[in-house]
Amino acid sequence: MQQLIPATNLGFPRIGPHRELKRSLEDYWAGRISVGDLEDTASSLRRQRWSRQRELGLDHVPSNDFSLYDHVLDTAVMVGAVPDRYRTESGEVDLGAYFAMARGGDLRGKAVAPLEMTKWFDTNYHYIVPELSAGQRFEYAGHKAVAEFREAKAIGITTRPVLLGPISFLTLAKQRGTDTSVTALLPALVGVYEAVLADLAAAGAQWVQIDEPALCLDLDHDIVDAFSETYERLVRSAPDVRVLVATYFSGPRANLPTALALPVAALHLDLVREPDQLDPALSGAPDSLALSLGVVDGRNVWRADLLSALALLEHARDRIGADRLLVAPSCSVLHMPLDLDLETTLDPEIRPWLAFAEQRLAEVVLLSRALNEGRAAVADLLTDNATARLERSHSSRVHSGAVSERLATQGPELEARTSPYVERRPKQAKRIGLPLLPTTTIGSFPQTADVRTLRSRYRRGELDAAHYEAGMRELIETAVRVQESVGLDVLVHGEFERNDMVEYFGEQLSGVIVSENGWVQSFGSRCVKPPLIYGDVSRPLPMTVGWTTFAQSLTDRPVKGMLTGPVTILQWSFVRDDQSREQTCRQIALAVRDEIADLEAAGIAIVQLDEPALREGLPLQRADWREYLRWAVSAFRVASSGVADETQLHTHMCYAEFHDIIDAIAAFDADVISIEASRSNMELLDTFVDFRYPNEIGPGVWDIHSPRIPGVGEIVTLLDRALEVLSPHQLWVNPDCGLKTRSWVEVEPALRNLVEAARVVRERVTSP
Ligand code: GLN
Ligand code: ZN
Repeated sequence: MQQLIPATNLGFPRIGPHRELKRSLEDYWAGRISVGDLEDTASSLRRQRWSRQRELGLDHVPSNDFSLYDHVLDTAVMVGAVPDRYRTESGEVDLGAYFAMARGGDLRGKAVAPLEMTKWFDTNYHYIVPELSAGQRFEYAGHKAVAEFREAKAIGITTRPVLLGPISFLTLAKQRGTDTSVTALLPALVGVYEAVLADLAAAGAQWVQIDEPALCLDLDHDIVDAFSETYERLVRSAPDVRVLVATYFSGPRANLPTALALPVAALHLDLVREPDQLDPALSGAPDSLALSLGVVDGRNVWRADLLSALALLEHARDRIGADRLLVAPSCSVLHMPLDLDLETTLDPEIRPWLAFAEQRLAEVVLLSRALNEGRAAVADLLTDNATARLERSHSSRVHSGAVSERLATQGPELEARTSPYVERRPKQAKRIGLPLLPTTTIGSFPQTADVRTLRSRYRRGELDAAHYEAGMRELIETAVRVQESVGLDVLVHGEFERNDMVEYFGEQLSGVIVSENGWVQSFGSRCVKPPLIYGDVSRPLPMTVGWTTFAQSLTDRPVKGMLTGPVTILQWSFVRDDQSREQTCRQIALAVRDEIADLEAAGIAIVQLDEPALREGLPLQRADWREYLRWAVSAFRVASSGVADETQLHTHMCYAEFHDIIDAIAAFDADVISIEASRSNMELLDTFVDFRYPNEIGPGVWDIHSPRIPGVGEIVTLLDRALEVLSPHQLWVNPDCGLKTRSWVEVEPALRNLVEAARVVRERVTSP
């Protein structure tokens, strides 16, 4: 029986309970399984996801939210926006081309670079940036949406297909060699969407969800104005389909009137991020528009406050009527771990506080039942929820007197280094003594099967601490010897002890736990397991000092201590929802500061604080940026500025655009910053130049997300480009990012090439 107020979902994790998709993809890429095997896994995962959501009691189950790599790339394929270099002579786009766009590599005997990749709004999910060229045409070329709809229908489930909307698609795409406006490209693209909708309608779709998160961005007027015509066309193309337009990660704010006036059946609003939009939406929505209210958090893991959510929903029902209401998570639950029941060793006090994707969807179902059948029908479940929330808020595990006292007594003096950069620079040069264009890496070296086995045997108790330590030391020693032999100037220990750059710290900080199976897709087959920050954070013991000083004891060259910065630890964790992000970030910053102090005391001259997540933490609307950047910069400075002038502080950021936050990056006042740049062909350097970035910069010269080994000439070209705009005294030479996903057979020659390219250019700039 269809409920009156449906329980709905906007998107579901793809990777599978045991990361089946990851394994299958990696087996396929390595040539261990066939396309057919990969398709079997994918199709069985899809069916499993649909059935599971149906079992949970959802009325609207999404389809086409699954992807072999990325849904933005899927959309590019759907609309035929595939650059010629990936196509066969006859123009076809096969699976090889699909993965070549995603990861680069060998395509029909030719090495091709991948498309750019960047973060999906303020998440840690990376999407493939569609590339549009001059005279771009669109055609209905990829039929995945309708194929998956039919696949679900064949097992008796009528799904709600999800499409990335045409305006968001164009907003996220990048143009190469042309600069056509979104509004000029739109009419042709909408033609494709019309065909897709007609196709879905013919296959029997009743609802189609079109995601337009771009509605929550600051858009130019002409783009905002294009929404109504676009959606008029789309709705007309499939009159029997009910179109739901989804916004999330913020509210449409200034674009709310436009969103409410769309001629569609329903509009989804993220009320977790932006609860204030409910009342304007209730009063502004025409009678023909239903509202899908995202009242429980699709981005975080704490059990919802169901009574408050229910109060909101009841209020909405009283205002607009039950027939115009849908209950939903705030956004797709793609960014949540799948299922709390997969956790077997979770702290028993904390477990009842948590909800993963399936538990979150059960909350959605429970809310819709409370609305449809009355609160009494779910009274026990509501009580259980309220009790768990209450216990959490009173728990002594959450609050630490020592942490609050430190926060209360220490102030702005924590945020400044002793001297400005110009004075630090000569002192560091004297202490460290590096050549021009110093070479280094970003920290991690290949996480080979040996490395992972060593860690997992230790974790499972099959190896004692002494043997584990000996194994790690062997790996570190090998890495140091390789770095010496290829001739790098600043070495690293290799981060072999780290399963992940945030999880590793999460395991050691107080107030934080890590799950066993709480995997979340980061890009393609890559998953991360974000720690759960449940209480006040502090650092009981040194976390990295032993490994770093061991590496330093092996060599005369400087070894750089590697730490993850406070903003990134915050951003890549599930954070508590009972205090501000700013507050939690400052607690983490103090913990990191303690670690840097210990590294420095142990004689380490260079410390790198990675902040790859700075940019993705930006709120969607600019009006909120200043406030975020204020506390983010302040946290970085609290963490980093306790060191002497002679200690060189590096930071690293990647896979983001920096031009509009460059002043915040400069305010970090790191002595050296390394940034990803090779995929965009050094384009982003212009930003640092326009700004006259005063400190040192290492623009990445090797795209490490691609298995391709860059040649010396190619790296020299990139360095030459960099030197057109930077002084040789400013320039460092390094890869784009850490090397943990690469293999030694790629790393060694690539680093040799990198060192050789630096030597060639160094020689040229120093010889008169
Ligand atoms: N130091 C980290 C590494 O090398 C940095 C990773 C990142 O920027 N994402 O793996
Ligand atoms: Zn990086």
